[in-house]
Amino acid sequence: MANTSAAQASLEETGRSYAPHEAVIEASRCLMCDEPPCNTGCPAGVDVRRFVRKIRFGNHRGATRLIREANIMVGICGRVCPQEMLCMEHCTRTNLDTPIDIAGLQRFAGDVELASLAPLPDSVKDRPERVAVIGAGPAGLGAAVELRKRGVGVSIFEKSDVIGGVLTRGIPPFRLDQTFAAEELDYVQRLGAEVQLKQIAPEPAELLGKGFSAVFIGIGLGRPYTIGLEGEDLPQVYVASDLLIAIARGERPDLGSRVVVIGGGNVAMDAAMAALRLGAERVDLCCLESYEEMPAFRSEIEEVQSEGIVFHTRTRPVRIVAEGNKVVGYEGVGISWKEPGLLTPSNAVDVPGTEFGLAADSIIEAIGTGVLDRFEGVETDERGIVRTEPETMATTFSGVFAGGDVVSGGATAVRAYAEGKRAAEGIIAFLDSRDTEGGGR
Ligand SMILES: Cc1cc2nc3c(=O)[nH]c(=O)nc-3n(C[C@H](O)[C@H](O)[C@H](O)COP(=O)(O)OP(=O)(O)OC[C@H]3O[C@@H](n4cnc5c(N)ncnc54)[C@H](O)[C@@H]3O)c2cc1C
Ligand code: SF4
Repeated sequence: MANTSAAQASLEETGRSYAPHEAVIEASRCLMCDEPPCNTGCPAGVDVRRFVRKIRFGNHRGATRLIREANIMVGICGRVCPQEMLCMEHCTRTNLDTPIDIAGLQRFAGDVELASLAPLPDSVKDRPERVAVIGAGPAGLGAAVELRKRGVGVSIFEKSDVIGGVLTRGIPPFRLDQTFAAEELDYVQRLGAEVQLKQIAPEPAELLGKGFSAVFIGIGLGRPYTIGLEGEDLPQVYVASDLLIAIARGERPDLGSRVVVIGGGNVAMDAAMAALRLGAERVDLCCLESYEEMPAFRSEIEEVQSEGIVFHTRTRPVRIVAEGNKVVGYEGVGISWKEPGLLTPSNAVDVPGTEFGLAADSIIEAIGTGVLDRFEGVETDERGIVRTEPETMATTFSGVFAGGDVVSGGATAVRAYAEGKRAAEGIIAFLDSRDTEGGGR
């Protein structure tokens, strides 16, 4: 059922970019350190000091180009990077007053120049090899961009109908405008990568047999976990990732006025904020962890708190209360940990007398996501997390590389992108060594 237009409008991207003069003022606060700690904090290798300096002196386009050399997700990362645990974490300016708003300046740079993205320079010579990239999320795109810059042919297989992975089918539009994200990421095609949408990739062995010289796996995490409570199959019980994908597609489900979200990670935070924007009057967020233990980014937890969402930390779900075919409530209980530091449901022990009940029209489960697909010959752990050699991102299958959430188990967009880049280096070294062994081309 459609919601009110006011609620729909509030799903629009929040926050705004700096105006040019504001960006210059913010950039002017940079101390231009000799050994800038911000540079080492960026997984993608963005030269923060240099781009901030360019903005300071009004060379905004130069700043954009410089960032894009390291990371095509200029405006995207300016919006979604948890900078407080990355580039901004050790900003020297913190010792004087407040750190430089690096992501804010990068967001500004991303908005400055989108139309005139430069294609590959003529100096890049095409190589004869072609690499298959499975998944067009940040990891796959990081690999594809870097391979194209080195002249390697790239075919990207993406099973959905849009590039971007979680960026365009997960992170809700009020945090990242999906049209902007898709446009920024489309740069990969201007670099000459072939993108095949709605294509589930064949097995790596088959791709190698069909003439691809190497394969990169960047499939992310596609299998959401569920709790296993009775009533989970009721229509008012949602899996957060499915709900966020539906929102990204423009759907506006009616969640009712009371919504309970279960989970303490970023997906739970996004789902809770989405529920408010879909018209809920009260949203309760229940999670196993304490505030300090919650895996969500600090900045997201603070944002959620500032929106008035009610937290029930260190609790576990007990029951979905239903009347007939309709959810009417949720019951939980306070927990403590049997073994400190092990934040798993099996390590939780109920605290007697802490049982509680909440009214609920809908319940959203956001308790984590696992790997959906496994590939023959590619070694994983028991959860399906692909084992790689960290320097090159090579898997145990010769010629097959991997990166992003399917390797990390879930981290950040910029880390996934950086791993794709690192894998591209590994692939180039692999192709070069093969050429040497085979007596050169
Ligand atoms: C709701 C949500 C909010 C988040 N918020 C933030 C944030 O604010 N900041 C941040 O830095 N990170 C955030 N993250 C994490 C970040 O989005 C991920 O770390 C990142 O997207 C991982 O990139 P990836 O390329 O490894 O995987 P994904 O982004 O999941 O992309 C994988 C792609 O592979 C495709 N695919 C899968 N299997 C196949 C197949 N067999 N054949 C072809 N294609 C296939 C999928 O369709 C998908 O497009 C968030 C994650 C979620 C779920
Ligand atoms: S890409 Fe992200 S981590 Fe790197 S400098 Fe930009 S905002 Fe910081």
